[in-house]
Amino acid sequence: MSQSPPTSVPRARVGLFGGTFDPPHVGHLVTAVNVRHALRLDTVILMVANVPWQKQGHRVISPADHRLAMVEAAVCGAEGLIAGRTEIDRGGPSFTADTLAALADEHPGAELFTIVGDDAAAGITTWERHDEVVRSSTLVVVDRPGAPVQLPEQFDWQRVEVPRLDVSSTDLRARVREHRPLDYLLTEAVLRYVRAHALYQESE
Ligand code: ATP
Ligand code: MG
Repeated sequence: MSQSPPTSVPRARVGLFGGTFDPPHVGHLVTAVNVRHALRLDTVILMVANVPWQKQGHRVISPADHRLAMVEAAVCGAEGLIAGRTEIDRGGPSFTADTLAALADEHPGAELFTIVGDDAAAGITTWERHDEVVRSSTLVVVDRPGAPVQLPEQFDWQRVEVPRLDVSSTDLRARVREHRPLDYLLTEAVLRYVRAHALYQESE
């Protein structure tokens, strides 16, 4: 008896959008939603860095559980966006190469995409095992407002146009300290979390 050919299951398409998310803001959300749409991704994981090793020592970073809770609040109800806790659960410094390996195990056969803003992309050659990142995923770059950033030329990039929002976590933290408005720059749920836990009151 002849066997019927295996029905081909489309490969899942999974985006990894890593960050410190201290706090997550509309720039992150608009990016995640629009890259998901443009590249027809099934999910975009907003992966919360445990120890963002490149930022350590430069400023106080909020505990990982606060940052994860804020990302969970931010993506609540957003189709296809999920908060990632793999790097927190793994502990130690967060290297994207390790996270991609974990995602490949979790989603066998999936096509992986690493999503970065152009500022993060510009520094990719300083990432631990960046060659692995490039081999195991497609790099997706979105432009942030400001001066154009020089991207290393040895990699293939896929650019996705998203609305450019001049919002950064650094500015939001300053707004809290200086009692300036944060409304509409982050979701109401995240803003409530920031207020309830009195985050960002101290100078950096
Ligand atoms: P900080 O000011 O503390 O560095 P941030 O706003 O840059 O915070 P991160 O958590 O450092 O946020 O960034 C995570 C990822 O999101 C990076 O790839 C970064 O380039 C990207 N990103 C941050 N803000 C925006 C934005 N407004 N538009 C597009 N991408 C963004
Ligand atoms: Mg940043």
